[in-house]
Amino acid sequence: MNVIFLGVQGSGKGTQAKLLSEKFGWPHINVGEKFREHIAKQTKLGKQAEDFINKGKLVPDEFVFKMIEPALQNATRGFILDGFPRTEKQAYFLLDKFTIDICFNLKLPKSVAITRIQARRHCSSCHKDYNLLFNPPKQDGICDLCGGELVQRDDDKKEAIEKRIEEFHKTTKKVIPILKEKCRFVDLDADRPLEVIHKNVIEEIKK
Ligand code: AMP
Repeated sequence: MNVIFLGVQGSGKGTQAKLLSEKFGWPHINVGEKFREHIAKQTKLGKQAEDFINKGKLVPDEFVFKMIEPALQNATRGFILDGFPRTEKQAYFLLDKFTIDICFNLKLPKSVAITRIQARRHCSSCHKDYNLLFNPPKQDGICDLCGGELVQRDDDKKEAIEKRIEEFHKTTKKVIPILKEKCRFVDLDADRPLEVIHKNVIEEIKK
């Protein structure tokens, strides 16, 4: 199946996409994460995207297409998209080439999204993700797995978060009517425990 998770930052798209990928084996394509990998390796694409990402702005479509196209082509048995499409042009690019079976729209109030994002941390060494609200490390600031230092992404700091949420409302919301016309579209309340949302997702997939 080809699945999309839409939703504001902090709505749990990544978590739900990962759980679904583990259950059915469809690859999880996380666009933001792919950019971060490119930035870490300082590839040409990484260098082109870095400044936009650090400022909380969307990366221009031409770079996003270059990055996502190989991942989509390789996903011959279905895919789960997390963080794509985020613009009208990206939505048309996708729908031109693929049929989307279902799109989950994770809905979350802005104030809750900001609180959740500010609590995100990841290990600077092994990159494991934490959230101080839901899954804190056993020891403050230290990774449970490798003992590395836990840090906050630059774009998870207050100023960049506000910018990213603003971009979501200004640009990304416009993809909703486009997707609604072309695929099954399911709104989900994201302000619930992740296991409850996951159960809901599975029920919808099986319908
Ligand atoms: P995320 O981890 O999904 O919040 O993505 C982190 C950052 O990567 C975003 O704030 C954007 O700068 C960039 N990004 C991720 N997905 C896209 C996309 N589909 N279009 C443009 N920029 C993106």
